[in-house]
Amino acid sequence: MKHILALHTGGTISMTATDTGDVVPSAINPLLDLSAHLEGIEVTSEEAFNLPSPHVTPAHMLALSQRIRQAEAAGIDGVVVTHGTDTLEETAYFLDLTLDPTIPVVVTGAMRSANEIGSDGRYNFLSAIRTAASAGARHKGCLVVMNDEIHTARFVTKTHTTNVATFRTPTFGPVGLVNKDGVRFFQELINQQACRIDHVIAKVFLLKAFAGMDGTLFDALPTSTQGLVIEALGAGNLPPATLPALRRLIDRGVPVVLVSRCFNGVAEDFYDYEGGGVNLKKMGVIFCQGLNGQKARIKLIVGLSNGKQGAVLADYVNNAIS
Ligand code: ASP
Repeated sequence: MKHILALHTGGTISMTATDTGDVVPSAINPLLDLSAHLEGIEVTSEEAFNLPSPHVTPAHMLALSQRIRQAEAAGIDGVVVTHGTDTLEETAYFLDLTLDPTIPVVVTGAMRSANEIGSDGRYNFLSAIRTAASAGARHKGCLVVMNDEIHTARFVTKTHTTNVATFRTPTFGPVGLVNKDGVRFFQELINQQACRIDHVIAKVFLLKAFAGMDGTLFDALPTSTQGLVIEALGAGNLPPATLPALRRLIDRGVPVVLVSRCFNGVAEDFYDYEGGGVNLKKMGVIFCQGLNGQKARIKLIVGLSNGKQGAVLADYVNNAIS
């Protein structure tokens, strides 16, 4: 018998639709009666919190990470986290960075609430439990299971506002599938070292670059700013009018991390013109390869909360697989 801990945190997966079609939080979690379908797997459910995921903060993520660490120490075989899909990728990546689990840790959610036709919540939950109970999911960090696919927390992202096939891994693809026969993995994953933290710093911001951008938004950041992530243009470039304000931020000691606003590919420094990647890197901008803006922000928060600074922080953030 495998023993899986299900930590529920809210989101559409635990919500219901009203007669007028609005989706609202429900008092009783519809996922609590799944035991009939789970031969050989015992599920213990716990409500960690019950929030729409736009209400979830890094402090909630840290509490989840600490609860999972405790459960692993107590001998649980695997953990499933149910979560709203809007910020699911951020929580999953936070867990991926801060845990070093030997047991499977799987995050799932739903695009349709429990009483809607074609609701995907119970199905995704079941798939996540089967994945968490599978030997193949061990030592793979945090995984995201949605719509029959298994993705790494590191690279998966929500790509559609409403479609059930919303979770995708640009550039690299899913790492496995859940089907009627079982759970299958098709890629070896690169292990990373967990970064232990006991608090989270708050003032790390994310800005997206656009044609004609200047320094106004950079200069508007509060003096309490602890870090900034910029979703830059293309391969990793910025409009020249941003540069004086960017330089002021870097001179103040604010770590500035750059990713690409492109859906696929990685940010790199190979354009050598004013505002090009070569120029930005020379100024001290930290390039983060392969992560999207919201994930790079989580990584910067975790690195800073761990006390990393300067070159050590740059190294940690720069490499998406460390
Ligand atoms: N707005 C919802 C949430 O993230 C969406 C969902 O769960 O799918 O809580």
